[in-house]
Amino acid sequence: MAAGQSLATLWGQSHPVDEPYATLSTNAMIPVSTTTEALPDDPGTAPAQPAIGASRLHTSAQPVDTLDPGEDVDVANLTKAVDIGAKIAQQAKMLRQALAAGAPQGVLFQGAAFVLPTAGRFTSGFGARWGVTHYGIDLANSIGTPIYAVTDGVVTESGPASGFGMWVVLQHPDGSHSVYGHINRSLVKVGEKVTAGEKIAEMGNRGQSTGPHLHFEIWTPGGQKINPLPWLAARGIAIPGTGNDGPSHD
Ligand SMILES: [Zn+2]
Repeated sequence: MAAGQSLATLWGQSHPVDEPYATLSTNAMIPVSTTTEALPDDPGTAPAQPAIGASRLHTSAQPVDTLDPGEDVDVANLTKAVDIGAKIAQQAKMLRQALAAGAPQGVLFQGAAFVLPTAGRFTSGFGARWGVTHYGIDLANSIGTPIYAVTDGVVTESGPASGFGMWVVLQHPDGSHSVYGHINRSLVKVGEKVTAGEKIAEMGNRGQSTGPHLHFEIWTPGGQKINPLPWLAARGIAIPGTGNDGPSHD
């Protein structure tokens, strides 16, 4: 992968399901681009005037070597971009594997992979419900439906849990947690590292549950339970039936 590979590479529902690779959606920080798309908001990269940018690097297999030494090149930034590109390549490979293994939707966001944690019908949102606060979202499907790690993390809980019957909790690199409740079976152990899209559990109907579903929560690094829909949407994951901005269903 060359410098300038996109930070945000999208697969999933907004693309045909048989399209294995993603299209570029650059969101800054990378000084060059290898795609044919013009960089948005960059009047300096007109196709007729190749410079250090999309159209020039696009034509070369060795983009760094083809730079004219007389041009003003920020080598440190370019090197950083190559490093970021390598990390993204690794994440993208992992994401492709996760999608091939059945994860329903995946995205690269700021160099990290995120997936929709299960395939299911959105049945309940975050907020007040039946006189109590529902601290997550519910996605319903049949018992045994695979549940995937929403992003990279470490398992902090796995097993019986009050109310949830059985649960898995993951801690992510930024200190946030994701919670997977009412599961039928956990496939991970406390302390285990998991990667985005790795199968960690199977959907169940344990605990205080009226039908097989995944109860999914997001806790902030400070421990606050927040609405997972906007959290997911901000990372490029939209759950069918909810819209992109994460309305809660009271
Ligand atoms: Zn729930």
